[in-house]
Amino acid sequence: MEETKKGLLIVVTGPAGSGKGTVLANIVNEGDCAYSVSATTRKPRPGEIDGVNYHFMSVEEFKEHIANNDFLEHAEYVGNHYGTLLSEINGKREKGIHVILELEVQGAANVKRLYPDAVLIWILPPDYATLEGRLRGRATETEEVIQKRMQTAIKELGSFDMFDYIVLNEDGKSYEASRALRAIITAEQHKVSRTDSFVKKFMSTKID
Ligand code: 5GP
Repeated sequence: MEETKKGLLIVVTGPAGSGKGTVLANIVNEGDCAYSVSATTRKPRPGEIDGVNYHFMSVEEFKEHIANNDFLEHAEYVGNHYGTLLSEINGKREKGIHVILELEVQGAANVKRLYPDAVLIWILPPDYATLEGRLRGRATETEEVIQKRMQTAIKELGSFDMFDYIVLNEDGKSYEASRALRAIITAEQHKVSRTDSFVKKFMSTKID
């Protein structure tokens, strides 16, 4: 039987306002990547759908998942809890699907510790003004939350060197950013450290 190569674990981090949602949507539409839908205690924004954007839940439910060891990692971000459910990851990867985790910095660091072969990608807006403009443009958050999210974004940038790649998402160029992301995925699939079974298979075809 044809061996299915395990999908990559791809962690994408970027401040709210980095425009990572649009970049990732382009990639997921191509069929070989899927989101890990996180659990959160944050309230849904207009248009967000339970089970699609997040598994929205109460703090009590979230704590129950912690107690049941259902999370690969979880963290607090600007007053809300967020967590990656193990059930979102393993089945997809076994089928050869690359799983995309959108995490803040703490979560990205935890995943890298648990899965050293995870690919960590930072999506960055071109400058501070663009970040602020995109955050304000969303108009679903209070001024206090916008300020907190901007402060958190600046603080998070201090951890950029633990990432493997940085992709710049310039205004109006999310397609170009998604092509850069695709190039990273393709390169990672061809890493020697991930291809030993292919080499073994090739060797087994040798006729003495
Ligand atoms: P937002 O409230 O804007 O949807 O997300 C806030 C932050 O939480 C973003 O940086 C997002 O990537 C991060 N986040 C979303 N899901 C998870 C998760 O499961 N774990 C962690 N650690 N961060 C998450």
